[in-house]
Amino acid sequence: MLTDDQIIYLDNNATTQLDPAVVEEMLPFLSKFYGNPSSGYQFGGQVRKAIDQARARVAALLGCEPTEIVFTSCGTESNNAAINSALQFEPRGKHIVTSAVEHSAVRRHCQELAKRGCEVTFLEVDQEGNIDLDELESSIRPNTAIVSLMWANNETGILFPVDKIAAICREKRVLFHTDAVQAVGKIPIRLGDSTISFLSLSAHKFYGPKGVGALYVRRHSRFGPSIIGGGQENGRRAGTENVASVVGLGKAAQCAAECMSEEETRVLAMRNRFEQAILARVRDAAVNGARAARLPNTSSFSFARIESDAALLLLDRHHICCSAGSACRTGSSEASHVLRAMKLSDERARGSLRFSFGRFNQDAEADRAIQILPEVIEKLRSLAATSASAPRAATLAS
Ligand code: PLP
Repeated sequence: MLTDDQIIYLDNNATTQLDPAVVEEMLPFLSKFYGNPSSGYQFGGQVRKAIDQARARVAALLGCEPTEIVFTSCGTESNNAAINSALQFEPRGKHIVTSAVEHSAVRRHCQELAKRGCEVTFLEVDQEGNIDLDELESSIRPNTAIVSLMWANNETGILFPVDKIAAICREKRVLFHTDAVQAVGKIPIRLGDSTISFLSLSAHKFYGPKGVGALYVRRHSRFGPSIIGGGQENGRRAGTENVASVVGLGKAAQCAAECMSEEETRVLAMRNRFEQAILARVRDAAVNGARAARLPNTSSFSFARIESDAALLLLDRHHICCSAGSACRTGSSEASHVLRAMKLSDERARGSLRFSFGRFNQDAEADRAIQILPEVIEKLRSLAATSASAPRAATLAS
């Protein structure tokens, strides 16, 4: 039974609640085990063992070797590190292939690199959010240092065909990095069977702590560190390890590996029920990328004749947390670059809301959202019809 003031958290692509099992595993490393993992005595060695265990757990989740995992401070750092390394150490040249729908951790980084003399190809997507694989193939040149394409889109949940992309990159002998921050923990990943060179992940997207991530670096791939100093992470990322968070990331990976298939089924059923109910109750509503392969947890809706920032504000009054596109754009009411790239009309893009379900959501929460969202859309539309323009919120809730 839900209370009236209970938070209905449907923004699990923005971040997730820490799993209690993760907190429990982290706590001793915030108090009792404070030794430096690089210290030679046993008190440091105990901490080193915990880091090794975390590395093994992350590797088990991804189906790769522990030596292929480099801990970082976040998904953003992992993305930057993979691209920077390719530009610095890959002799082919300074051309990057990426897409128009990447998270800002890749897109803005590439835009900056373009200002500093790198050449960047931003592949367009179709209305279902897919890239054209022939276009990808023809965009790879002799001077292409790296292809960086995301596994799952944070705004729409649309999945790129990473195995096919990896095969093309292998054929062309070019490095392939995938930003899998939204995919890891939600869908099965077996890196041992693939030819992906680099993969980024972030703990806070799958019930681990914020401020810790990892970069998978395929064995024998040329890789050089972006952060230089001590010899931590086998010389691939300097700086004393964020031990408690790394331990938390490891535990989150273990939990994800254990409950993924059951959770995927449950979350998918909840998401599908939500989508069907909203489409049945709200006129002029559509699911963005409905026909594409998508993450099981993400619903990106576009509603005609509403402004998503006003909808966020009204939903927030009912304690429903969702997002207008990516949380990183909060504060800006510009239509999302992802939805614009999918050729949504400006009106539809500005009337889009993202709901993302997760491990701790209950059916009763989906029911509350199914009840409230149509009321909110109706209210905004009738307000818009009676006034010259729709009400706009001063700030966005994320
Ligand atoms: N890549 C994607 C697809 C994301 O959704 C996010 C976060 O929203 C990031 C990268 C950045 O991850 P982090 O917050 O760990 O820097």
